Amino acid sequence: MLGREATVSDMLGMPLPCPLKNPVRLSGGVAVFCDPCSYPKSLLRTVNMPGFTAAIGVHSRHVPGWSAAHKEAFKIFMRSPNTKALGEIGLDLTARGVKKQEETLQYLLRGFADPSRPVILHLRRHRGKEDEIYFRGLKLVGPCLHREQPIQLHCFSGSAVAFAKWQKRFPDVYASFSGLVSSFEEHQKQGLRAVPGDRLLLETDSPYLPAVGRGVGNTPHHVGDVAMLVSQVMQQPVLDVIELANANLKRLFRL
Ligand SMILES: [Zn+2]
Repeated sequence: MLGREATVSDMLGMPLPCPLKNPVRLSGGVAVFCDPCSYPKSLLRTVNMPGFTAAIGVHSRHVPGWSAAHKEAFKIFMRSPNTKALGEIGLDLTARGVKKQEETLQYLLRGFADPSRPVILHLRRHRGKEDEIYFRGLKLVGPCLHREQPIQLHCFSGSAVAFAKWQKRFPDVYASFSGLVSSFEEHQKQGLRAVPGDRLLLETDSPYLPAVGRGVGNTPHHVGDVAMLVSQVMQQPVLDVIELANANLKRLFRL
C-alpha cells in the first residue's frame, strides 16, 4: 500500500503480481484522487511523469464521510493549476446516502466545474437496467453545467441510447471503458460500438475494479487487456484502438 506521498512513478513501479498478457508502454494517464483519506500531500510532487495528470474529486461512496477538513483540502486542490480535472464525482445507487450524494454532486458541479477542466463522472447502479442511472444522472447534471463542458463517463456501461442522450446535451462527452466490458451484454456492446472513435477512452479503474481474469491484480499496466477487450467488441485492430484512445486522452486532458 502506498502512502499519501507516493508519486505516479512509485505507483507505476509497483511489482506486478504476474506477467502481463497484453503489455503496453504507458505514455500517459490520469491519476484520480477521490478517496479523501488518500488525497496527496502535493499534486505537483505526485504527478512527476510527463504525459500524466491528476483529478481531484469525492467518490459517491465517500460522500457521507466527507469532513470539513477534507472539503477544505479539496477546495485548495481545485484552486491549483495542477488539478486538470474534477472527479470522480457522481451517483452510486449501490452506496448509501443517495439523497446526500445527489446534493453533493450538484454542489460540486455548480461550484467547481468549468469548461476548461473535464468532469469525470461515476454513475453506477446494481447490475441490469444500467441506462436508468445514465438518464437519472443526466437529469441531475444537465442543469448544472454549460453545454461546452467536457465530460468523461467513467466505466461506461450504458446502451447506444444512453450515450446519444448525453451527447445531445453535452457534445464534448467521452465514454471510457474498463474491464467491465468482459461481462457486457449485447445492448452494452452496441453502446460501445456507438461511441464515435474520437470520444472513446480506455481505463483500468485500478486498483478498485477486478482486472480481466482472476488473480492477476489490477494496475494501470493492465490497460492493454482492456484495449484487447474493446478491440474485440469493436472488431478493430487493437493497435488502432490504442492509438485512438491515446489521442483522445491527450486532447481531453490537454496533455
Ligand atoms: Zn468509479
